[in-house]
Amino acid sequence: TNSTQSAETTDGFHLVIDALKHNDIDTIFGLVGIPITDLARLAQAEGMRFIGFRHEQHAGNAAAIAGYMTQKPGICLTVSAPGFLNGLTALANATTNCFPMILISGSSEREIVDLQQGDYEEMDQLNAAKPYAKASYRINKAEDIGIGVARAIRAAVSGRPGGVYLDLPAQLLAQVIDADHGRKSLVKVVDPVPRQLPAPDSVQRALTLLKSAKKPLILLGKGAAYAQADADIRALVEESGIPYLPMSMAKGLLPDTHEQSASAARSYVLAEADVVVLVGARLNWLLAHGKGKTWGGPKQFIQIDISPTEIDSNVAIAAPLIGDIGSCVSALLEGIRSGGHGKPDPAWTGSIAERKDKNLTKMAGMLNQNPSPMNFHSALRSIRDVLKTRPDINVVNEGANTLDFARSIIDMYEPRKRFDSGTWGIMGIGMGYAIGAAVTSGLPVVAIEGDSAFGFSGMELETICRYNLPVVTIVFNNNGVYRGTDVNPTGGPDVAPTVFVKNARYDKMIEAFGGIGYNVTTPEEMTKALTESIASGKPTLINAVIDETAGTESGRLTNLNPSTAGKK
Ligand code: ADP
Repeated sequence: TNSTQSAETTDGFHLVIDALKHNDIDTIFGLVGIPITDLARLAQAEGMRFIGFRHEQHAGNAAAIAGYMTQKPGICLTVSAPGFLNGLTALANATTNCFPMILISGSSEREIVDLQQGDYEEMDQLNAAKPYAKASYRINKAEDIGIGVARAIRAAVSGRPGGVYLDLPAQLLAQVIDADHGRKSLVKVVDPVPRQLPAPDSVQRALTLLKSAKKPLILLGKGAAYAQADADIRALVEESGIPYLPMSMAKGLLPDTHEQSASAARSYVLAEADVVVLVGARLNWLLAHGKGKTWGGPKQFIQIDISPTEIDSNVAIAAPLIGDIGSCVSALLEGIRSGGHGKPDPAWTGSIAERKDKNLTKMAGMLNQNPSPMNFHSALRSIRDVLKTRPDINVVNEGANTLDFARSIIDMYEPRKRFDSGTWGIMGIGMGYAIGAAVTSGLPVVAIEGDSAFGFSGMELETICRYNLPVVTIVFNNNGVYRGTDVNPTGGPDVAPTVFVKNARYDKMIEAFGGIGYNVTTPEEMTKALTESIASGKPTLINAVIDETAGTESGRLTNLNPSTAGKK
């Protein structure tokens, strides 16, 4: 023995927990089993929160949304092979959405896996993760756990955030080393999200272009919400007087009721604007790739992004501004304040206001109808009015029609409160995001779910009840995918591919776990059920009976849904 060694020992299990805690990570979302059960037990024993799920995909989604809300990587812990693969779906989704998370999976013995000798849950997880993660690492030696965890954290949150895979072979967890040596091997990540200032000439170029604009528009994406530069973004919008459009998860960065919001005149401003300032929004499919009919006449873009290769991804960008959003926006703001930028032409803002008025009046007409059974509009009207009284509530939203209608009808008032299908436009994020948001914020969550979307994560109702989370799940039940009216043209015994059990009572599912169920058929019942559920703070599910003929195939994505041309 030498003088730096003590009699005490530690092991891989303890070092993983110590390394996470050393970096202020206090929560793990996961699902236990070989070889990480003791890791979860130990995390809890050492004062971390361990939230155990029923399926790893939802644990991963919870971790991802926690990362988005906090700028700290959300942690998902899974077993090997199938558990890892289930978690990998969430890791890929996080990377696609630029959410920071770390998927930590136990794995089987390297020497057996590498020789493909047939181990328990044998799988080359590190290589499987690589194409779907921002970075992937394996730690083989207990004394490398400190540096390995530090590397994973920095990779997840620096630059463009994303998902990181961390592979922990079973033998690593049981490795014993000297405790003092272990303590000294821990690494605290210094400045994990460093500011990245834009180059002054890029700022100048952007300001010059902006000054020349006749019909400027600011487009806020979820990168802008993630950046937590809320005050500067609001100041940029308000001091410049430029109309803005929020992407769905950027809703609430400024309240949706803001007079400069052009949401209700979306197609008009996209087609008409001449200079568009993209703030943390990619010109992907959600923005029609920045071209075509949606974008109308000639356009010049100023694009703020942390990732230089995002520039010119779909169309030419006249003024790229590379850096963190906070620094870029405050640089623009400073330039606007000192550079004699006038407010936009009243002809431009006036014609937007006119379009908005017209569209809002039309929408109000639709919202005020009271068909029986309820349709999407009448049910959402009730939800909108209840949520207006609680701007602090988190909203999760997925489905086809349920997503499309709720996105435009439900107003958001605070940043980072809306979590939805995101960059992939997927279903299955519902209960995972709801749990992640409830655990992270300690505030209520209302999950507005299509019946089909809910099905992907419905078993997590048990998780919600087990942890007694203030989550209200509203299932828009129209008996099927898109609608409930399809019939099997052969007259055979199977129902049509899009149809579910008719008149299902999803509210009874949550009662099985001690939660509260409501079955609502009118807007008044919805108002009452939602008000009571939020006030109770208890796990609740509201089965909202919606006309099965309401809704359109693929919602607003009809153009992405190829249909057969063959007719007999
Ligand atoms: P939306 O779907 O709302 O349009 P996207 O996910 O397409 O938003 O775009 C988010 C963009 O924001 C990504 O290109 C990402 O690189 C960028 N981004 C994320 N965080 C930051 C940040 N802190 N600073 C600058 N850009 C960021």
